[in-house]
Amino acid sequence: PSPSVGAGRYAPSPSGDLHLGNLRTAILAWALARRTGRTFHLRIEDLDRVREGSEERQQADLAALGLDWDGEVVRQSDRGAAHDAAIERLVGRGLVFECYCTRREIQEAPSAPHAPPGAYPGTCRDLTSSQRAAGRARMRELQREPALRLRADVSEWAVEDLWAGTVTGAVDDLVLRRGDGVVAYNLAVVVDDAAAGVDQVTRADDLLSSAPRQAHLAHLLGLPEPGYAHVPLAVNTAGARLAKRDGAVTLRDRLERGEPVAAVVARIGDSLGLPGCRTAADVLERWEPSTLSPQAWVVQPWIVQPSG
Ligand code: GLU
Repeated sequence: PSPSVGAGRYAPSPSGDLHLGNLRTAILAWALARRTGRTFHLRIEDLDRVREGSEERQQADLAALGLDWDGEVVRQSDRGAAHDAAIERLVGRGLVFECYCTRREIQEAPSAPHAPPGAYPGTCRDLTSSQRAAGRARMRELQREPALRLRADVSEWAVEDLWAGTVTGAVDDLVLRRGDGVVAYNLAVVVDDAAAGVDQVTRADDLLSSAPRQAHLAHLLGLPEPGYAHVPLAVNTAGARLAKRDGAVTLRDRLERGEPVAAVVARIGDSLGLPGCRTAADVLERWEPSTLSPQAWVVQPWIVQPSG
């Protein structure tokens, strides 16, 4: 794939089966990429929260919907060297500090002046070398590594979202590597998207507030900042984020109840104002991205219509 073409992607965490909201986001990510001539990639975000077998099941479900992807599936856990190199680059530029705080201490610390709510209070940002030595001794006691944090030099950053337009959001001293040694999601996502030439990040809009941090990280790493396309979440009739306990909300649940894949795609098509879609290709052909509702998709429980 030539880099000038650009790429889109879908990047699920293999923590369970994909529900209808995830499937809708995946179809839209695929449709947006295919419609704009981009390549489309699948990346498994398996640094954390991995459930055995879920990766294979997710891929089978996406394929069953009619999605295809270019190149090998990337597993984030294979990308450690690239993640480490990115952190080293930031270290080399003096943009990283060690953080010895516990989660509790961060919550209880008074926030720094002008800091956005929930931002890191800056406790370990400017320690003396003897304070750092004390911090390291404490980490040995707690049997963990210091977390590595970005020394953010801005407090906000703007990104472009296909639907939300220009979105300016908070950037703080975000974690780059956690105390257990695992690379932070924000760092991994930026490095991996750039390596795949991704210039269009489609995902659920619960991550919209993370986009400014990620784009700023890309900027600091000298990587191109992607455009974003955040798709509204799926919710249940009570307005809560769709979850397993809402009943038959995965493709497998629906198939087990005798519902054909085409009916599940039809349901997703209905949510886009496109009645009668049977395959992801129908959505690709008929969907007009500018018509996507910014409201959450309220998934009504539905009973299986006997086919035939
Ligand atoms: N792995 C994340 C999730 O499944 C998505 C990350 C992303 O698309 O940037 O929620």
